[in-house]
Amino acid sequence: MSDIYTLSNGDHSWQRLLADSIVTPEALSRIMPVDMETVRRVMQKYPMRINPYFLSLISEKNGPLWRQCIPDMEELAQDIALEPDPLWEEPQSPVAGLVHRYPDRVLFMVSSQCAMYCRHCMRKRRVGPVGLMTEKDIDRGVAYIRSQPDVREVILSGGDPLLLPDDRIERLLSQLHDIPQVDMIRIHTRTPCTLPQRITGDLVALFRRFAPLYINIQFNHPDEITQVSARACESLADAGIPLGSQTVLLKGVNDDPEVMMRLMRELLKIRVRPYYLHHADPIEGTRHFRTSIETGKQIMIHLRGRMSGMGVPHYMIDLPQGGGKIPILPDYGVSGKPSKLMFRNFAGEVYDYPCE
Ligand SMILES: *Cc1c(COP(=O)(O)O)cnc(C)c1O
Ligand code: SF4
Repeated sequence: MSDIYTLSNGDHSWQRLLADSIVTPEALSRIMPVDMETVRRVMQKYPMRINPYFLSLISEKNGPLWRQCIPDMEELAQDIALEPDPLWEEPQSPVAGLVHRYPDRVLFMVSSQCAMYCRHCMRKRRVGPVGLMTEKDIDRGVAYIRSQPDVREVILSGGDPLLLPDDRIERLLSQLHDIPQVDMIRIHTRTPCTLPQRITGDLVALFRRFAPLYINIQFNHPDEITQVSARACESLADAGIPLGSQTVLLKGVNDDPEVMMRLMRELLKIRVRPYYLHHADPIEGTRHFRTSIETGKQIMIHLRGRMSGMGVPHYMIDLPQGGGKIPILPDYGVSGKPSKLMFRNFAGEVYDYPCE
């Protein structure tokens, strides 16, 4: 496995790495065996950014890391069961970029930029464009949170909130920290995995000032855990920041019980506690990543009992139309094969779920 990616001029700051990302079909086809026309067509709909660090980890065509970042014609496949926003994030958004689904917490999408554009992204509809969230939008979101007495937690998400510069992160954290009813802040980021150089000493020092601060990271495959990503996670953990993982169950990436177990074990070693294993949402452009729920249950059965319970995440599906997340438990009993799944959420409402 490769160690830190060093550019010819020796500058491996995260800004430099980001600036050197592959963002055009021409550049990609020069270094990877891809069809330029396919990449061009996919890019008319969805953005591409592959930074040199993550690029350096790809070891095989169509392998688990390749699939997550190299555009694929399958993204343009039509499927009427899939929608850009099946979870109704937009209808549940009282102000731009903020989703208020549960009474006590809000999801605040403060950035539309990412260190890499994941092909399986559940927010494919809104990642990429620059300026989607302005400073004004962020201020409006903060004002909304301040006006909501029941909101105890703010989850910063995106895109990737850590693509914002340090000074904007600092301003936002201190604004949220000053709201009396907000007990804690959680950050959802992929940077410790996709661009661990982002976790600088300055950033860690800044985070220290805003405890209790929790960080959840999306790691999807054991090959994403390198010396550099391990160092990034350890420096956050050393600063007293509890780390969790939110892995997405993805066909051709980690839909294998042994791969998943290796990932969970590696995460524990770098002090990242497996939190959720997300069933892939029915998002337009991601059909080729979706597995059956049965696959997920079999993986859960495999993990439970074979490895430390500390490393067994909850397997979750997010119900359509804003129903919220619910845990899926493996059937340890005996059951028939369901052709139509229906689930009940925390409020007792029943939802149909599109199955494979
Ligand atoms: C996932 C999600 C949350 C957080 O849910 P937890 O179960 O607390 O991790 C909050 N708001 C929205 C809209 C979400 O999708
Ligand atoms: S980092 Fe997260 S938000 Fe950004 S493209 Fe990947 S999955 Fe989507």
